[in-house]
Amino acid sequence: MTHSDKHESLKNLPGVDHLLTLAKKEDRFLDIPRSVILDSIRSALDSIRKDILADIETGTSDETILLKAQILAKEKISPRLVNVINATGVVLHTNLGRALLCEDALNNIKKVAQSYSNLELKIETGKRGIRYEAVDELICELTGAQSAIVVNNNAGAVLLALNTMAQDTQVVVSRGELVEIGGSFRVPDVMIKSGCILKEVGTTNRTHLRDYENAVSDKTGLFLKVHASNYKIEGFTASVALKDLVALGKDKSIPVMEDLGSGTLIDFSKYGLPFEPTVSDSVRSGADVVTFSGDKLLGGPQAGIIVGQKKTIDQIKSNPLTRALRIDKMTLAALESTLKLYRDEKKAIQKIPTLRMLTVPFKDICKKADLLFKTIKKDIGSLADIDIADMNSRPGGGSFPELNLATRCITIQPKNMSVSKLEINMRGSTPAIIGRIEDNKYILDPRTIQKGQEIIISATLAKVLVKK
Ligand SMILES: *Cc1c(COP(=O)(O)O)cnc(C)c1O
Repeated sequence: MTHSDKHESLKNLPGVDHLLTLAKKEDRFLDIPRSVILDSIRSALDSIRKDILADIETGTSDETILLKAQILAKEKISPRLVNVINATGVVLHTNLGRALLCEDALNNIKKVAQSYSNLELKIETGKRGIRYEAVDELICELTGAQSAIVVNNNAGAVLLALNTMAQDTQVVVSRGELVEIGGSFRVPDVMIKSGCILKEVGTTNRTHLRDYENAVSDKTGLFLKVHASNYKIEGFTASVALKDLVALGKDKSIPVMEDLGSGTLIDFSKYGLPFEPTVSDSVRSGADVVTFSGDKLLGGPQAGIIVGQKKTIDQIKSNPLTRALRIDKMTLAALESTLKLYRDEKKAIQKIPTLRMLTVPFKDICKKADLLFKTIKKDIGSLADIDIADMNSRPGGGSFPELNLATRCITIQPKNMSVSKLEINMRGSTPAIIGRIEDNKYILDPRTIQKGQEIIISATLAKVLVKK
């Protein structure tokens, strides 16, 4: 197009008002707010103008522009947070929202959120109450701690505890425990933000009690232990047990804190998983403060739980930072219901999805795999090589590093497209199905596939595999 042709095309584009009047007469724009339609028409016109200037062929009719606007408007009004099917086998998948809440928690959220509640009211006296009281007794009952408080998440809990206990002093940490968790939580950075001075001791693989002892000076404010929740140091290693550090702390009058990360309330070794230190173990070892997440192995809502000596927890409660990190009522409602289930461990395992998926017996996974295999075979048998294979799933979410859980997966090798194209198309479907690729096969792990989803997965595979 010549310069003057372009100018002419741009000039002849219909006006925004004209298009808006047309759109408002049409059913397809009926439920879309006017502001969204207007925005979408403007964006559609913009993109057409750009095409014209770049010599890219483009339609300029009312209908073409409205069609573009309709697509843009649909995108704008559809929810950003949507359900996906987790076929990765990773139970605590941070990118997919970590823990699934149990029924009791969901019901309690609904009850508390749609009505006024006694969140900060003592009903008996009519006086102001404390929001954490909904759960702190329960947490103490389940962990044996003297006192507890909950905040927004465990990163916040660590920040708050450090700031309360050790601002402007040195915090002694083993070099083997300077953890980075995904999403930019790094122990050295949190240390700075909480106003503490990091004092590293020992080496990456070996740290001894004497390393802590030699680091003590009049500037020392805290000994910190951080649980290696997402990595493992193997080989020639040594670390100091919490109870030994507590003994040293007592001797030197230095408090001790442990960041457990994914603190668990049950002993997973009873269910064939490796032993993970329980919150009760850490409390019993005598730590002044222990912090852990609500939505990792606990299987509840996002929260940071701090347990410990009453004196220290009281100090934390009166730190102004606590107000900035406070937990909201929906989270409290979910946490209360989840925690209550732990009074009966069997119930907890049955009803808390995270625990259920982690401890599901292999024979039950095999049954799920069998059903999924049969469904898929029936739907797409001619379009791909489908097989069943014994593999491993990862617990994920900063728990059980390096542990491989025996699982039985479905493997799919499409005949008419690449495996990576299949993975992309499954992810691009509605609902998005998230699987993984291994040895040039598309893998579906039944561990994290919920009841009824096998039908959706199979139907989506059928749709995706015939589409080029
Ligand atoms: C996960 C984790 C955190 C952060 O907890 P969030 O609840 O995700 O904020 C902190 N420390 C350790 C050791 C962790 O594993």
